Amino acid sequence: MVKIRTLGPLSCAAIALGSVRAAYAAPAGPVDWTGRPITDPAYEPEVIGIGHTQPPVGAFNSPTILFTNFDGADLNSGCGNDPRNNCSVLSFQFGGKILPFSGDASERAAIVQSLRKDVEDFGVIVIGERPPDNQPYAMVLVGNSAIGGVNEHGFAGVAPTIDCGNSNPYITSFALELGGTNAQATVINQEAAHTWGLEHVNNPADNLHPTAGGHPDPKYTDSCDKIVANTDLDPSNGQCNAVHTMFCDAGFQNSYQEMLLLFGPTIPDDVAPSVTIDAPGAGDVLDCPADFELVVTLDDDRRPQTFSVRILFDGAEVLSSLYIDGTHAFPIKGGITPGMHTFRVEIEDEAGNPASAELDFELATNPADPMCAEGAGSTGGGTGATDGGGTASTAGGSGEDGRGAEGGCGCRSAAPEGAVAFGLGLFVLGALARRRR
Ligand SMILES: [Zn+2]
Repeated sequence: MVKIRTLGPLSCAAIALGSVRAAYAAPAGPVDWTGRPITDPAYEPEVIGIGHTQPPVGAFNSPTILFTNFDGADLNSGCGNDPRNNCSVLSFQFGGKILPFSGDASERAAIVQSLRKDVEDFGVIVIGERPPDNQPYAMVLVGNSAIGGVNEHGFAGVAPTIDCGNSNPYITSFALELGGTNAQATVINQEAAHTWGLEHVNNPADNLHPTAGGHPDPKYTDSCDKIVANTDLDPSNGQCNAVHTMFCDAGFQNSYQEMLLLFGPTIPDDVAPSVTIDAPGAGDVLDCPADFELVVTLDDDRRPQTFSVRILFDGAEVLSSLYIDGTHAFPIKGGITPGMHTFRVEIEDEAGNPASAELDFELATNPADPMCAEGAGSTGGGTGATDGGGTASTAGGSGEDGRGAEGGCGCRSAAPEGAVAFGLGLFVLGALARRRR
């Protein structure tokens, strides 16, 4: 699927080798867990146009995509740093391979959410899946390499170049596994930012500080900070002063204003998410005692996505928690009386866009179980009465309607018992719900 370009590989490879050798002198100073050096390439910006086509030149105020690739990749060399073909001049440094991030889907979603917060004022959309080729994107590969992790490599992340003014929006960079959502997000931010033309600064609160871990949650800060050459914070003249001096004196950088200049203001997420109830089916008649799964699928155009989810049973909230995009199963065992019932699922995406889904189903009577006998429905009807019209109209032709309506009047005292039992069951089991895809 991925082709290694063969045009002019010798000249490309030679440049890459020379560059990398220069860049990977041992990291300055002792390395400890709280202050991993985020090694920065000290070598010359990549030569564009040898052996590959020059990508479109980025312009100021051009939104971009930050693709956080947690899935690993076999890297290609001899083709620059184009993420569309998993190209990197640093390929051999990583044994030609980045392994998938070891964290699960929810850890990935948490890192992406943290990244989104960091770039929330800018025209940068953060997603965890590969964009189409024609949409400019920077790719940060997040994971350990075939060689190892932070300890083996001696750095937490690396970018192949400082691309002043983001003249090439398509560049691959790397963030090794650190542990800690915010620290990981900082390294990802920083490597992407190098490929956008931002340099290291002497401000621990800024995403471009050359060591991670000294500040709980660095941001792109709106201040002119001294550009530094290394993790010892030795002052540097800076490489991209044509951009820096639009906001600061030469040798200083305002990360916030540069991000705003490069990408423009935020692109609001005003696309509603989607939620479907996949099981039970609409109008299903289920056996009593209840023993089934409520299966819900959540999705959004910006994945991974974390949703606030509320599940209501007959109008009463039985679960309120955070879930990521995917299909989730909530086992339901007992606690429901015969009759018509409604599940309603209400969600909000990270931007607060709402969506909902509703499902009516029936629990059949079962004379063999006292809780499921014909009469039990009149006690349980109280839970059913809360959602009122919806259930009644669906059930209208079935003959169950009358019982539900009756229960709605007379069952208040009896209702909480069933509702509580059910609620507890769902809460406990809800915590076990797993992402299915
Ligand atoms: Zn750096």
